[in-house]
Amino acid sequence: MAAETKMVKDGDPNYSDDNDEEENFSEDGDWGDWEAAEKDDDDGFESDFVCLFCDSRFVSSDSLFDHCRLSHGFDFHGARKALKLDFYASFKLINYIRSQVAENKCWSWGALGKCQLEAKDVNFPWDEEKYLKPFLQDDSLLYSFADDEEEEDEEEALDREDLIEDLRKLGDLSIVDDEAIGESSVSNNGKCKDVSLISNSDDRKQSCADGLVVVNGKGKEPSVCDGRLVGRNIRKVNENYFGSYSSFGIHREMISDKVRTEAYRDALLKNPSLMSGSVVMDVGCGTGILSLFAAQAGASRVVAVEASEKMAKVATKIAKDNKVFNDNEHNGVLEVANSMVEELEKSIKIQPHSVDVLVSEWMGYCLLYESMLTSVLYARDRWLKPGGAILPDTATMFVAGFGKGATSLPFWEDVYGFDMSSIGKEILEDTARIPIVDVVEERDLVTQPALLQSFDLATMKPDEVDFTATATLEPTESETEARLCHGVVLWFDTGFTDRFCKETPTVLSTSPYYTPPTHWAQTVLTFQEPISVAPATVLSGDDRQGAIGTKECPASSIQLRVSVARASEHRSIDVSLETTGVSSKGQKRRWPVQIFNL
Ligand code: SAH
Repeated sequence: MAAETKMVKDGDPNYSDDNDEEENFSEDGDWGDWEAAEKDDDDGFESDFVCLFCDSRFVSSDSLFDHCRLSHGFDFHGARKALKLDFYASFKLINYIRSQVAENKCWSWGALGKCQLEAKDVNFPWDEEKYLKPFLQDDSLLYSFADDEEEEDEEEALDREDLIEDLRKLGDLSIVDDEAIGESSVSNNGKCKDVSLISNSDDRKQSCADGLVVVNGKGKEPSVCDGRLVGRNIRKVNENYFGSYSSFGIHREMISDKVRTEAYRDALLKNPSLMSGSVVMDVGCGTGILSLFAAQAGASRVVAVEASEKMAKVATKIAKDNKVFNDNEHNGVLEVANSMVEELEKSIKIQPHSVDVLVSEWMGYCLLYESMLTSVLYARDRWLKPGGAILPDTATMFVAGFGKGATSLPFWEDVYGFDMSSIGKEILEDTARIPIVDVVEERDLVTQPALLQSFDLATMKPDEVDFTATATLEPTESETEARLCHGVVLWFDTGFTDRFCKETPTVLSTSPYYTPPTHWAQTVLTFQEPISVAPATVLSGDDRQGAIGTKECPASSIQLRVSVARASEHRSIDVSLETTGVSSKGQKRRWPVQIFNL
């Protein structure tokens, strides 16, 4: 999945393989990025050494490694020394790094951790034979990195023990933005300004990571830095993330979201055949509300796991106050573990595959922001009994096109009788690069909804969190004339289906068709230019000429290709959007791909 996303970002945006169809690219479509990329390549003959982590090119391996050390914090020679990598191991390391960077996904040093990093006989993830094959064709680096081997011997090597300790601590290594490496990178610095574009300014996401909300992903190339910096970055993101859940406001907001809380309550309380006498694990218990429901439903043991120290204490106190706490002194059913679920064994005794019901409220904006789903899937694979229940057990993403009413244009067009539409237009230009979390009303949708992606949480693999999906948007049938579609809105439903909730299946919907809106609202992705759409019935027999999607020739449908992938910055996601307008005669016009970072 991530590899496909990489293609979307770096490949030919004209992704269709049906070359014989009529192409009608936007005359004012902005292809600058792609042209610039090609130019760089052409210029690259002199500078033949391509950086391991970014697109920079160098005239020698020395200057390349200097750059890697200074810009990406990766000391190749130091690492070789410290890890005692011979020529072939180093050769493989280069190919391994290139392959991981190309996949543009989080990559893990976990395997390294698992392989018992002792002072000798270390197995590294790049030990595999396949990394003997050059990942880049004609990779000059592979044939020159050892040129100055003797000089290296005199250089001071990194301390092997320190390096190994650093690697061991990492646990998880992800690709990070260059810009994200600095001290301020994982706080909201530099990103807060975007928050003002979000109408739900006091909502959950803003609280999360202290305002790490929407960022402009355009033009940012992902890169990788070395383990220590990445590890630090992730730790910092996690600190901010769990720290943000220490404020009571966010928990009040979640609990007050009746659509959300009552869906969970109904699933837990109205399905006695599932819950009665069961062992339940609540991943990310917060105040413990879901665990309290589970205890109320007659569970025999409830393990409430919470990484935020403060909230784990709060949940413990609440469990005691409500007489369901379990420890040496209390004989209720609910125990609280202050731990990331990934490290639960360190906190409590629990057998693998001993849980009957795994419950979690893990959903973020646009479903996947926050990356908590991977933690839930980890818990599923480690703790859930075979055939055990996961609540919710389905998640589905939907998409629909929205019209002017969902933009800020109407507001600025008439401000006490004055025309301030220039502000509205400027905002619209910005939002073509920035996702907005806001409530979109059903009346502002100009197309029918379409299913984008479904997840079966009982069976999905963790890497399926990254996906590419297509959808076709048909104009709302009731339209009798063309309307401008300004972009697409994404939302999700999660299902507590009758697979596990036999008595009372239920759905938690964040749809614009469903009121009241939830605290997730919807996620709005704005097109670079609005596309005029009209139902085929309105256009049939119409012989109008002009570029598809203009008012001269409205599109009768819009084809979308959407990729969602965990982003270079830990816990955020990248969304790429490819849009094709289809005329009533089947002719197509594509717009340049848009990349959004959430
Ligand atoms: N279950 C509560 C809180 C949901 S918010 C409710 O429904 O109201 C998600 C919670 O999960 C936060 O409190 C966060 O700190 C916690 N969390 C996120 N990832 C976690 C992980 N990997 N391990 C443990 N807790 C986690």
